[in-house]
Amino acid sequence: MRSHLLNGLTAETYRRSVTEGVERVAAKLATAASPFTGVTVDGLAPRVDSVDLDRPLGDTAAALDELEEVYLRDAVYFHHPRYLAHLNCPVVIPAVVGEAVLSAVNSSLDTWDQSAGGTLIERKLIDWTNARIGLGPAADGVFTSGGTQSNLQALLVAREEAKAESYGRLRVFTSEVSHFSVQKSARLLGLGPDAVVVIPVDHDKRMHTLALAHELERCVRDGLTPMAVVATAGTTDFGSIDPLPEIAELCAQFGVWMHVDAAYGCGLLTSLKHRDRIDGIERADSVTVDYHKSFFQPVSSSAVLVRDAATLRHATYHAEYLNPRRMVRERIPNQVDKSLQTTRRFDALKLWMTLRVMGADGIGELFDEVCELAQEGWRLLAADPRYEVVVAPSLSTLVFRYLPATVTDPAEIDRANLYARKALFASGDAVVAGTKADGHHYLKFTLLNPETTAADIATVLDLIAGHAEQYLGESLDRAS
Ligand SMILES: *Cc1c(COP(=O)(O)O)cnc(C)c1O
Repeated sequence: MRSHLLNGLTAETYRRSVTEGVERVAAKLATAASPFTGVTVDGLAPRVDSVDLDRPLGDTAAALDELEEVYLRDAVYFHHPRYLAHLNCPVVIPAVVGEAVLSAVNSSLDTWDQSAGGTLIERKLIDWTNARIGLGPAADGVFTSGGTQSNLQALLVAREEAKAESYGRLRVFTSEVSHFSVQKSARLLGLGPDAVVVIPVDHDKRMHTLALAHELERCVRDGLTPMAVVATAGTTDFGSIDPLPEIAELCAQFGVWMHVDAAYGCGLLTSLKHRDRIDGIERADSVTVDYHKSFFQPVSSSAVLVRDAATLRHATYHAEYLNPRRMVRERIPNQVDKSLQTTRRFDALKLWMTLRVMGADGIGELFDEVCELAQEGWRLLAADPRYEVVVAPSLSTLVFRYLPATVTDPAEIDRANLYARKALFASGDAVVAGTKADGHHYLKFTLLNPETTAADIATVLDLIAGHAEQYLGESLDRAS
């Protein structure tokens, strides 16, 4: 069994085994004709069930053969140009190289004595990100597992900085289309059930700042404490960017913590064309960025950034065995002092490799391309009588629905759209997402693949219409 341990004696086995794994994935990438096979849960579950975990296969090739059956063949492939569903990106090769290195070396970024250079690399990337945002000289931050954790940590800091006597009187303001992790965080942080004040959005799905001003005033008038405003720079569904400068003004006026959730919109930090769309982000007290969304990084890679490094102390606990207080005096950089996690992946290495190989402009170019593609998609949808599209894209998502003039029953239209999404998924030809807007079922494209073309979008629109028409046709037959 020692032959399975990665060390000096097994370096050659390591090289061969990893190469075998890489070969399988490379073969998939070269041949995948569609993003999905359309396999069903019932179709796949027996194959996974039949694996006896107590009877190992002994060698990598056999395990990879089996993996083909239980995973690789039917996985959902984000690199395919007709995967248009969620905020998952195709990944850049330098980052995948970083991933291979970081898991083999297996640094843990909690303490200097488990990571050394890794700690410095992470810190440098945090500084780099803060400089791109413009958070100022005292800024700091830490890598996290994702936007959900970044938002949680930012709100933890905001809660502590609010210095409230009781959590029950704290209020968090966010738009009706912000990410659900804001609600989840409020719950986890022990705020009251009414803690999150939901602010309506305008026609473009951006937070209504007039409504925000009213709610802030009302909060103070009622003797409650405004704890934070969570502005979204790129909402998950619409890509809409809340009016950051106006929100920053209000936060300054009311002395409220401003958090910007840029999990999606952070790609604009590298954009050569559209950086100005997130102007105002530099006034935030804290920011969430998800490199694993718009920086084309493998999951996970995210960070929470703060304007004032000192505020990260709210996550600091000392353990004698790990990060005793004296290490702070000795100026030993232990990232665990800033993190909600203890053992933590060296995810920063992926971004490091990306910047060292491609550069920030390389990322920005890719993101600009998908934003441009969304504009083209919007023009296609707006000109297509079969479809209604909700709002012109600010980033790279499109929310739309099949809405032919001939069908007037709103419930029937909802069902046709739901059906079309399911049927498309079952066919495997393309994968699209769905959401609700104004009480109706909509479909969603999240465009993060620069390989997707306007022709792909047109093809998928035809496929959706075909499924929806089939549903409506059958539904007519049922009625007669
Ligand atoms: C995706 C997303 C999140 C959550 O990030 P995870 O990395 O999935 O945890 C938070 N906010 C917004 C706006 C997002 O789009």
